[in-house]
Amino acid sequence: MFIDGQWLEPGPSFEVTNPANGEVIGAVADGAKEHAAAAIDAAHRVFPAWSTSTAYARAEVLSKAHQLMLERKQELAELMTTEQGKPLKASLNEVQYAADFLRWFAEEAKRIYGETIPSARADQRFLVRYQAVGVVAAITPWNYPISMITRKVAPALAAGCTVVLKPAEATPLCAIAVFKILQEAGVPDGVVNLVTAQDPKPIGEEFCTNPLVKKLTFTGSTPVGKKLAQDCAPQLKRVSMELGGHAPFIVFDDADPEHAAKGASLVKFLNTGQACISPNRMFVQRDIVEPFVATLEKRVAVMQAGNGLQPGISIGPLVNEAAVSKVATQVEDAVAKGATLHAGGQRLTDDELANGHFYAPTVLSQVTPEMLIYREETFGPVAPVIVFDDYDEVIEMANDTHYGLAAYIYTQNLSRAMRTFEALNFGIIGINDINPTSAAAPFGGMNESGLGREGAREGIAEYLETKLGGFSI
Ligand code: ADP
Repeated sequence: MFIDGQWLEPGPSFEVTNPANGEVIGAVADGAKEHAAAAIDAAHRVFPAWSTSTAYARAEVLSKAHQLMLERKQELAELMTTEQGKPLKASLNEVQYAADFLRWFAEEAKRIYGETIPSARADQRFLVRYQAVGVVAAITPWNYPISMITRKVAPALAAGCTVVLKPAEATPLCAIAVFKILQEAGVPDGVVNLVTAQDPKPIGEEFCTNPLVKKLTFTGSTPVGKKLAQDCAPQLKRVSMELGGHAPFIVFDDADPEHAAKGASLVKFLNTGQACISPNRMFVQRDIVEPFVATLEKRVAVMQAGNGLQPGISIGPLVNEAAVSKVATQVEDAVAKGATLHAGGQRLTDDELANGHFYAPTVLSQVTPEMLIYREETFGPVAPVIVFDDYDEVIEMANDTHYGLAAYIYTQNLSRAMRTFEALNFGIIGINDINPTSAAAPFGGMNESGLGREGAREGIAEYLETKLGGFSI
């Protein structure tokens, strides 16, 4: 743990394992409530100095961190693959994405512009300024263990906030590597603090109840997000929530089914389906279902599962046994209720895969609303295909979810693309595009997928309060 500029002496610890083979790869400090409280105290103590430092000084530190992260790209990516499981190429991409946030918000720090507003009174002037909200508590997930940290810490620091972060218990080593970079980049003592813990609950409680914390930013599951938002409500703490999703992937019959299926398989099996923007329902218009499914099948057939450090691997392990069971349950339920299994549909336990948490990339068709997979987030490598006939039907089905994070549309018809883009109740929509994410673009969900946005101009606004001055002159 890193509190007030000090790495804590070893005390109680917990082990971190490689999900591809079960090997223990490290042990980290098992933090308790009092560590979270000490970190919050430190962050509170240095807040006045950090929040009044110049935007140029804060930008300088973030730029240095950006540079250090890129210099360490290979070693960070190897650590990520070992700790989280995604193939090395995907880890390299994630480190780049993580570094992008450091640079983007280094630049944005200097663009926290205020406003003057004309008054109806001749002797009055209005001035609006934006200032840092205060100490920020951040909780991050394991599926993107480096970029989810910089997506929060970079805008918070740019805005002038100080931070206490608790990473996911499955991926604390990536968090430690990021905090070493922040320290080396010159972030002053106490401005960023890291509390690792095996049991997230006591740390979460401290974050939500300590009055010195002014804002909680969370990425994780919808149930935990709701609980934390409730716990923050008595003190009306500001919250940002990036929660679950159940993305529709709509392919209209004027699209090239093979091109669409290629896109679908790339985004579906990315990170073995462990992404909140992973397509969870593939709606394909009746005339092109056959070539779409055939292409998916072909692509899945050549995917190699295994340890992501080995070349040619595209399917890494799932995070743990519970994740494998959840996927297996959804697939069994779908097949029992009449879905057709085209590929996969089983755990992978051959040879060295036996010690990891592997599930075969799976393609299902004839999926219907009665099946669990139609409503529940899968977070695993399963592509469920659903046939549709007309436009109104598919819009209604796509919007029939309490989630509202990502959606995808494939069509060559411009007006259909625009109408669908406007009709879908999702915060991030890819139109013939499977990667509608960037440090420069707002990321976040509608409905129960979250509150607030990360990245882009909106991403820094989450860490700012609006202050109005009315001047009589
Ligand atoms: P997932 O199902 O993707 O693991 P979680 O929401 O359980 O999603 O985990 C996301 C993050 O939230 C992790 O850092 C985890 O430790 C943390 N977390 C889980 N439960 C709680 C809780 N009750 N209080 C605070 N943090 C929690």
